[in-house]
Amino acid sequence: MAKRPYIVGNWKMHGTRSMLSEARAIDRAAERLIKAEVALAPPATLLHATRKEADLIGVGAQDCHTAEGGAHTGDISAAMIKDAGAGFVILGHSERRADHGETNEDVKAKGQAALSVGLNIIVCVGETEQQRDAGTALSVVTEQLAASLPECADAGDRVTVAYEPVWAIGTGRTPTVEEIGAIHAAIRASLLEIYGEAAQEVRILYGGSVKPDNASELLSIPEVGGALVGGASLSADSFVGIVAAAM
Ligand code: PEP
Repeated sequence: MAKRPYIVGNWKMHGTRSMLSEARAIDRAAERLIKAEVALAPPATLLHATRKEADLIGVGAQDCHTAEGGAHTGDISAAMIKDAGAGFVILGHSERRADHGETNEDVKAKGQAALSVGLNIIVCVGETEQQRDAGTALSVVTEQLAASLPECADAGDRVTVAYEPVWAIGTGRTPTVEEIGAIHAAIRASLLEIYGEAAQEVRILYGGSVKPDNASELLSIPEVGGALVGGASLSADSFVGIVAAAM
């Protein structure tokens, strides 16, 4: 049976406790929008509170460390994220790759750490504008994927991939429907090589300037199994508009 579209909000470094009202409103809307699976990734400081406020939606983190614990000031382990009530973690977001120099190998190690404590993972890949202009988007994305994904026997249940062209994040620009379709088809083919048959069940999200007014077109592209949403997830109204478009 086909999985429900998965709509995930990434709050990035936004949100104090006053934003929990948005999480509550999203959770309430999820009760009627049951044809989609909805999740939020608030900053780590709000993980526990969001989990307590929201019963229906998934709650996840935006990063984790590879180690179980130890002398890593400022970092958070996968076990701590799980303990805070999260069910998943986003890994390899382009902002972490750019701001923190995260490599594919780092992302893979983080993925292994997350899976080993029972968290599911959303692994992000995507080309820069320069790479797209050079015609290498497809090879960049499939190489990132092959090097970033951890081994996982039940990948169909535990792994999600998010295709996020770096140049589309927060810019209001999106690739064409054909461009997204081509990359998602290539991602599916790579996933089948990596995970075998289990890959059929891995959802591939699109991320990059998804808004209520373009969501329905983007979510109807074959192989697009949902959306990773940044800016538009910060308000319950716009995020719920995207969820509604998914159904
Ligand atoms: C993101 O950062 O994951 C993202 C998709 O951002 P935005 O929706 O704001 O482009």
